[in-house]
Amino acid sequence: MTGNGKIPLNSLKAYAAAESRTKGRTYPEPTHPYRGEFQRDRDRVIHSTAFRRLVYKTQVFVNHEGDHYRTRLTHSLEVAQIGRTVALSLGLNEQLVEAICLAHDLGHTPFGHAGQSALNRCMKPFGGFEHNLQSLRVVDELEEKYAQFPGLNLTYETREGILKHCSKRNARQLGELGERFLQRRHPGLEAQLANIVDEIAYNNHDVDDGLRAGLLTEEELSAVDLFREKYEQVRDRNKNIGRRVLIHETVRAMIDEVVTDLVNNTRDALEENMPADIEAVRSSPQLLVSLSDSTYARHRALKNFLHDSLYRHERVQAMSNKAHDVVSGLFECYMSDIHAMPKQHAGRAAQWESETGDMGRARAVADYVAGMTDRYAYSAYRRLVDPDFKIEKG
Ligand code: MG
Repeated sequence: MTGNGKIPLNSLKAYAAAESRTKGRTYPEPTHPYRGEFQRDRDRVIHSTAFRRLVYKTQVFVNHEGDHYRTRLTHSLEVAQIGRTVALSLGLNEQLVEAICLAHDLGHTPFGHAGQSALNRCMKPFGGFEHNLQSLRVVDELEEKYAQFPGLNLTYETREGILKHCSKRNARQLGELGERFLQRRHPGLEAQLANIVDEIAYNNHDVDDGLRAGLLTEEELSAVDLFREKYEQVRDRNKNIGRRVLIHETVRAMIDEVVTDLVNNTRDALEENMPADIEAVRSSPQLLVSLSDSTYARHRALKNFLHDSLYRHERVQAMSNKAHDVVSGLFECYMSDIHAMPKQHAGRAAQWESETGDMGRARAVADYVAGMTDRYAYSAYRRLVDPDFKIEKG
């Protein structure tokens, strides 16, 4: 780092996203005297309201189940940590990676994937709901903090990274940012990296959380090669190790294997393809940030195991069903009476309805519901729909 906090250009590889070649911000702004553009993006994300709400949003386990489970916030921090490590080792733009990773889940609904699927179902007649697209809406439109522009006015490269997936229908409405989904092009390397480290982070921390919750056991997880091998190695090397440390050392070793493979395999791909710049990365026929086939298979086996054994566990499912009721119930309630929402949201719903009818009304309701934390949604549901509703176990 130089004294002014900017990454010296010579530490960035040619294929990295460089500030000097950024596609810029939607609303042009003067440069900052001592902060770089991607650094400013990261700083704006951290100062956003949506970022603070992540602490009360479910990753897999709802907040009240315990204080040690990941939340969307701690998940995002773990994603950013792994992302920065890989970025530094490959000469990619660490600050851009960090900005993308910290922002990647800003559009998530309360109650994790159950909330997202409930809201998507409610929004089916009105254009659907995608959490990735919602993250982009948060940074482009919904945050109200700056006098000169709506949203956070982030650089193109950060926005490109946030928009991990997108349907073709939505891509058509996004201009240049949506083009890659129509032309089957790739985003820059920093965006590719943020995408894959998201998966590495949750695969591993969900093992830790699943064991902590007693929804998984070490015996069950031993069906997964990656887990069993690390677990046995750690146990055999440390005869009197306690269970919590054994689990932590196992997860640590799993992350290390996968991340090391990611660094090595990506370095090989970059050396082989030698993309001259970020545009060459975008038009490359293949994703350049990736795991080797063999490690991908090990990582994938763990992912599949978690899918079948943890995310479909009856206790997680029971919570998901309740989450579904809360999100759907609130959506219906606000759709039938927009004035049940705070003034600002009701005003937006009325305005958008006057422009695009029910589509506009529904979008304003979805924005409001998606922005809620778990506990806010829960108390709103009890107040407006069912005063006797309990989300707690049993
Ligand atoms: Mg994530």
